Amino acid sequence: MKAVVTTGPGKLDTVDVPCRIEEGTVAVRLERAGICGTDLKVLDGAMPTRYPRILGHEVVGTVERTPPGARLSAGARVLVNPSVNCDACYLCESGQTHLCRRGGLLGRDFDGVFAETIGVPERFLHAVPEEIALDDTGLLQVLGTAVHSQESVRVSSETLAVVVGLGVSGLLHLQLLRARGAGRVIGVTRSRRKLDLARSLGAHAVATPDEAVAVVTETSDGRGADLVVEAVGTEATVLQAIELCGYGGDVVVYGTVTGGGGTLPFYKLYLKEVTLHFPRAARPADYNTSIRLAEQGRMELAPLVTARFPLEQASAAFAAARSGNHLKVLLTR
Ligand SMILES: [Zn+2]
Ligand SMILES: [Zn+2]
Repeated sequence: MKAVVTTGPGKLDTVDVPCRIEEGTVAVRLERAGICGTDLKVLDGAMPTRYPRILGHEVVGTVERTPPGARLSAGARVLVNPSVNCDACYLCESGQTHLCRRGGLLGRDFDGVFAETIGVPERFLHAVPEEIALDDTGLLQVLGTAVHSQESVRVSSETLAVVVGLGVSGLLHLQLLRARGAGRVIGVTRSRRKLDLARSLGAHAVATPDEAVAVVTETSDGRGADLVVEAVGTEATVLQAIELCGYGGDVVVYGTVTGGGGTLPFYKLYLKEVTLHFPRAARPADYNTSIRLAEQGRMELAPLVTARFPLEQASAAFAAARSGNHLKVLLTR
């Protein structure tokens, strides 16, 4: 079968590999897989992996075969939870399956999902209703992680939230904040096109990074934001998020910063009593919420998918994902 494999930093190819479906797992045929920043970081070597490695962690597919006793049946459409876990340790037993120290992420710590057919234990599969448009399903995994990362912060009609970075995840966060009832959301990005899109998806105001402090100050009567979601994953944007956050506010660092890091503005964090959140991956319940949100039509997902490539053209797909000209780039069979 075809699979997208990296054999070293920067090296990527679609190759033929043996199709190994482990006994006791469900065989899932790829329908839509998403390329995201994590895949680019794994490919670049910024996130360590072992070679050769099949990339990818965002996928929805069709069940091809099931082991005896499975609840799912052939033909079912499923989302894969890519956070592998052991199901036996103290973290798994306390429901923190996504943090399991014996687990990890498909496509980084284990072979991933950019392959024609993969074998997945049934407990990592979530049924996806046929009502959700096929391309939209390619965003359900990311949406699940956005749901998870907002779980620790409350929002209300009084909330002024800011989303720094309006790529796919930032635009999902913006919509999710609105769906959860946040009164006003301000979107921050350099891209004019994304600012326009954010406005059409419900942003109260938008700003470039240079304008952000002025816009947030004015909108909040000088108080700063109640909540800032950082959806880029650089030190500069984390610092900007802290800057935009008001007294007693929350900063959710959704983007993954891979560097060792410079220093944080500790005294500013103390003075403002900012709570920093560093969410990671998602729990099974978050994926159920993500699927429900899409099923109920509460998220506009179609405008976030801007390109589709077959697995054979993975190099072109990764180039498109890296170009900055696209939102979600999907791989198909
Ligand atoms: Zn991802
Ligand atoms: Zn565990």
